[in-house]
Amino acid sequence: MRVLVTGAAGFIGSHYVRTLLDGGYPGTEHARVTALDLLTYAGNRDNLPASHPRLEFVHGDVCDQPLLRELLLGHDAVVHFAAESHVDRSLRSGADFVRTNVTGVLSLMEACRSTGVPRVVHVSTDEVYGSITHGSWTEESRLDPRSPYSSSKAAGDLVALSYWHSHKVEVSVTRGVNTYGPHQHPEKLIPRFVTNLMDGTPLPLYGDGRNIREWMHVADHCAAVHRVLSDGRPGEIYNIAEGTSLTNLALTERLLALCGADASMIRRVPDRKGHDLRYALDSTKLRAELGHGPRVPFDRGLADTVDWYRDNPDWWKRTKQEYDDGEGGYGT
Ligand code: NAD
Repeated sequence: MRVLVTGAAGFIGSHYVRTLLDGGYPGTEHARVTALDLLTYAGNRDNLPASHPRLEFVHGDVCDQPLLRELLLGHDAVVHFAAESHVDRSLRSGADFVRTNVTGVLSLMEACRSTGVPRVVHVSTDEVYGSITHGSWTEESRLDPRSPYSSSKAAGDLVALSYWHSHKVEVSVTRGVNTYGPHQHPEKLIPRFVTNLMDGTPLPLYGDGRNIREWMHVADHCAAVHRVLSDGRPGEIYNIAEGTSLTNLALTERLLALCGADASMIRRVPDRKGHDLRYALDSTKLRAELGHGPRVPFDRGLADTVDWYRDNPDWWKRTKQEYDDGEGGYGT
């Protein structure tokens, strides 16, 4: 089996590739992987093995149609992770978000159609449904994205699904909740707070910290994506959830405890514009249809993640020096 993975040098894409190459997904132990990534500020070549007999790394853009057509020949599947992924950056400028998250999906789907790739998974986010006060969103819920990031992801989802309806490209869409784990860029909440605590600098908590997010370990997110790739139905959307729901303040308190610090490290910063209050997904469909549920308990996953950042200061110190997040708080 040959799989092309886009965004393969990013947080979730690189976890997926490492697990695939390690034989972590039964039935695809011998898969050959083409890892495509533009290496934006968020991509890190060190997230992937330097060399591996079944890995080919390609430095390239999902908007580059001729490149995609050339690369895709002979591939059995595509898993599309590549995206601009940071809400706060999208509030400052949305152009790259529309380019990669919408035009990039069109470019990829068109290349899949013209080269006859048999199977595609387009990886998306719970944020396309917007904020919900009570209950949880199902796959049938209305799209109500609130930021340039989430609206560009929602548009990309529709473009991807249109290639099933119009051209019978066998694409499924996944919508996952907030994901955490090793190798996540320190612009995002958990790595930002953990590395700030290791540096002895304050934690910039947005507003009153009562925004609620559901957290899932990257291993569970990737396993669900692979399950959808193997057994999901084309033209269908699968929510990926059943993580742990917490306010940002409660999560911050857990991180403080794991790092041996106290609430004096919290510095309140003005809230993010249009900050969605609560996300919650219903993933009954994934469990009922594909028998998939999460495996990593939150407490263990969070403690292991903190340990990973403690053990890998070279990785995050270099990455943190290279980016400037201005006055903002963090991405969730
Ligand atoms: P990330 O920002 O860590 O990685 C994105 C990767 O895409 C980077 O390696 C970057 O270099 C690459 N990239 C960006 N533009 C590109 C382009 N034009 N061509 C090729 N490569 C390009 O993001 P992530 O957190 O790993 O998220 C991966 C996917 O999962 C995204 O589609 C995101 O919307 C989705 N998602 C993320 C989360 C989360 O909590 N992180 C939750 C749900 C869904």
